Amino acid sequence: MQNRKPLIVITGASSGIGLATAQLFSSLGHPLLLLARRLENMQALNLPDTLAISVDVTDRAALAAAVQQGEARFGPADAIVNNAGVMMLGEITRQDPDQWDRMLDVNVKGVLNGVHAVAAGMVQRQRGSIINVSSVAGRKTFPNHVAYVGTKFAVHGLTENLREELAAHNVRVTTIAPGAVETELLGHTTDDSIKAGYEDWKTSMGSKVLSAQDVANAIHYAYAQPDGVCIREIVLAATRQQ
Ligand code: NDP
Repeated sequence: MQNRKPLIVITGASSGIGLATAQLFSSLGHPLLLLARRLENMQALNLPDTLAISVDVTDRAALAAAVQQGEARFGPADAIVNNAGVMMLGEITRQDPDQWDRMLDVNVKGVLNGVHAVAAGMVQRQRGSIINVSSVAGRKTFPNHVAYVGTKFAVHGLTENLREELAAHNVRVTTIAPGAVETELLGHTTDDSIKAGYEDWKTSMGSKVLSAQDVANAIHYAYAQPDGVCIREIVLAATRQQ
């Protein structure tokens, strides 16, 4: 118990980047609290010292209760990776506005809910890392991305402001901004022609987009720095992505 590595909380751990991040931190000996809606995917990972709880990150109380449960079992959370997100691309005149609501709720409020669940404890302990997964779409725009880009610019903005606020408390705050990654993310988009266009764009890069593992490595790099070093932002994309 004494030499155990500290707890890492990962949202959106049931697929893609979150899943790869869970496997990486677990392989390095960290106990994990994994949060997403698909419990079976997280349980199927069969990782040691891991508590997986089915949580919708838009449910602030459920997310906070899950973090409390994880901390009761493994000790204080040393890091949270706020990674859960959805991408529903669409033309502004044709997209169902309910999809904007969903993206804003999950991608923006979900991140804030994750921050809220750990920040007071980290301030009290005067240590911790908050790692928010944004996107290159949080720094530049892309066709048919209006609402999604809005959510990711929000993640960039709130994360940088949070870093300024928590710096005095020795809490590190990092934005991770990946380019295209091969995951399930495009599956949320309901417009087939936009989906096909996105696939063509990926093919134009020789289909060499990032893997979830590439992004997990970047997340771990930020976390693994000495306490006094805060990696503020990592932007990474396939070499062939413009
Ligand atoms: P995936 O679709 O593979 O993973 C998304 C994860 O988010 C899943 O584990 C999903 O779990 C979880 N999730 C979605 N909605 C909720 C919710 N309401 N509550 C809890 N968990 C939720 O995509 P990625 O791995 O690619 O996405 C991870 C992050 O990376 C996202 O924030 C995305 O915007 C960002 N990103 C992805 C890029 C890409 O090209 N793939 C590029 C740049 C950034 P479940 O459905 O089980 O709830």
